This record gives sequence, structure tokens and C-alpha cells, in this order.
Amino acid sequence: MTEYFAVPAAPRPAVEVAGSTLLFPIRRIFCVGRNYAEHAREMGMGGDRALPFFFTKPADAVMPNGSDVPYPSHTKNLHHEIELVVALSGGGSDVKADTALSLVFGYAVGNDLTRRDQQGAAQDLGRPWDTAKGFDHSAPVTPIVTVENVGHPAAGRIWLGVNGKPRQQGDLSDMIWKVPEIIAELSSWFELFPGDLIFTGTPAGVGPLVPGDRVRGGVDGVGVLELGIVAR
Ligand code: MN
Repeated sequence: MTEYFAVPAAPRPAVEVAGSTLLFPIRRIFCVGRNYAEHAREMGMGGDRALPFFFTKPADAVMPNGSDVPYPSHTKNLHHEIELVVALSGGGSDVKADTALSLVFGYAVGNDLTRRDQQGAAQDLGRPWDTAKGFDHSAPVTPIVTVENVGHPAAGRIWLGVNGKPRQQGDLSDMIWKVPEIIAELSSWFELFPGDLIFTGTPAGVGPLVPGDRVRGGVDGVGVLELGIVAR
């Protein structure tokens, strides 16, 4: 097949499935913004009034667990955002919330790495978030744990520490949009497909990373994501 492409075709980004030799092929990465009220407030937004919203990252921004992430260019304020990640095995448009969980293959732990200074500048200037959120290596994730093994976690601790010191702390039950509502709402904007990942938002306590940092965060029952930050 490759002889039909004018330039080398990109490899399919994928993430491991826990307890399996199979890989989960990533189609797209969707992210929910401001889905925990405490985090919306720390970002200067009214956590009660501001509803969550969506943005995206490229599929090849994924990095496997244990990666060294190069500190990105064009930022002096790289931030961590620990998140529950939903992996879809089904799809559709205008999915109803009461059937949405039947589309879920499994769950993982991800870090929505963010050039926070560029995100602030984009907001001030009315520009898009792509360079703030969708940069290379910006979506580390753990292997996906299947629904058969983890169920559908709706409560449980979500946490992150840097160099052993606690930074982020929350509970999945604090999400403004729950997973079924996220899938239903997202599917009203985009037709969803198997291979789509959804980062579901981060609890309060986001903060800066610098080269040399060791970053460890998790969702109880789902997994623990570890990263190193290294000079570019
Ligand atoms: Mn996020």
C-alpha cells in the first residue's frame, strides 16, 4: 500500500491495553476544559456558572507511561493536569447519556500537559488554544484498563505529585459533566468512532514543571502515570 502515498505515511499512534498484547489504536484525542469547579475557580473562572467545553490534541501527542517528556519550546510555564481518560470502542452522533457507557472500551490516566502562559495569551488575544494544548508529547497516558477489569469509575481519588510532594487532589465524583454526559455532549458536536480518547478534565492544584522533575499521578483503581521532564 505504501507505494500509493506521495510521502511516507505516518504510523498509527497507539497505547497499550493492560493485561493484553493488543494495542488500542488512537483516532482522535478530545479534551474537556474546566470540568471540576475548584479548578475552574483557580483558573479565574466562576466554577458554578462556567460550563465545561471541548478542545483537541493530535493523536500522535500521546506518550507511553514512564516517558521522559522534553520541556517544550515557547513556554516558561509548563503545567501538569492529571485526568481520567475514556477510551471508546463504539461511536455515533447524538448519543443519549443513558446508553453512552456502552461505547466505552476502558479507562486510563492521562496528563493534559499545557503551555499555561501561551493559553493565557491565547485567551487574552482571542486566539485558538492549539499551541497551548496540542503540542508534541502533550498527552502522556497509561495503558488502558478495560471495562471488564475496572467497570465505569464514577468516584475515587484523582491525584498528582511532583518530586514526591502533593500538588493535585480531587475526586471523580466532583466532575461537573460525568462520563455519560461528556460522551453525549461530545457526540452532538462530532461523530464519535472507535479509537477516540477523551480527557475528562483536571481537579484543582495545577502548577509548573521544570526539567528534572519527576511527576507521578493517578486515579484510584485505574492506574498510575509517571513522567520525567527533561531539557529539550
Ligand atoms: Mn485539562
